[in-house]
Amino acid sequence: MSQYTLLNSVGDGERPILATSRLTSKKYVTRTELNATTQSDIRELSSLEKKGVSLDDLCDFMDLLIARAFQVTDQPFFFLGQVPGSDFIIEGLRYWMARNYSGSRLLPGSKCPVRSCGKRFGIVQDVFFNPSRYPFAKGKEELYHKPLRLNRISVHLARAHLIFEKGSGTWDQCYPTSPKQFYTDFYKPWKEGKPSRYVAQFG
Ligand SMILES: [Zn+2]
Repeated sequence: MSQYTLLNSVGDGERPILATSRLTSKKYVTRTELNATTQSDIRELSSLEKKGVSLDDLCDFMDLLIARAFQVTDQPFFFLGQVPGSDFIIEGLRYWMARNYSGSRLLPGSKCPVRSCGKRFGIVQDVFFNPSRYPFAKGKEELYHKPLRLNRISVHLARAHLIFEKGSGTWDQCYPTSPKQFYTDFYKPWKEGKPSRYVAQFG
């Protein structure tokens, strides 16, 4: 298909980028379909900008979370929940795992899934926060925010292309689904310093 705008996949078991009822089964998404999907995000950004919050502000915080997570460990593959005594809170979020993918494993060809972009990803830093369904979380649920997953591809899609992943994800696929959702669930609580008593200091 030559006229597609977005390859609707980042590969390797990932849910489709746009997993709406209309688009989830589509391997390729056209410009028209993409525009229809991002309209509500554009409206949300307009109202957030009235509060003084830009798309770059949101994406800068995503990048900060990834950077902080990789300050915890420089191991290539690291499950926090399996390390005795380890219990990190990063910017108010309970850290579970950070890992590096090679681009070839997660994203075929290591290229941005937006056809006109061509940005290549070498190593994809991938971070999970707060999967509270896991046993080590028992009894600590009151500390938890909602689960969140981020990686360099999802942040690039949001910042460069205004594409937030869509559709309900399973516990390990909870990427930000819209500017307002990320603002409400993560950015605003962080800005307001809640719950600051759980924020770990790194660097
Ligand atoms: Zn791109």
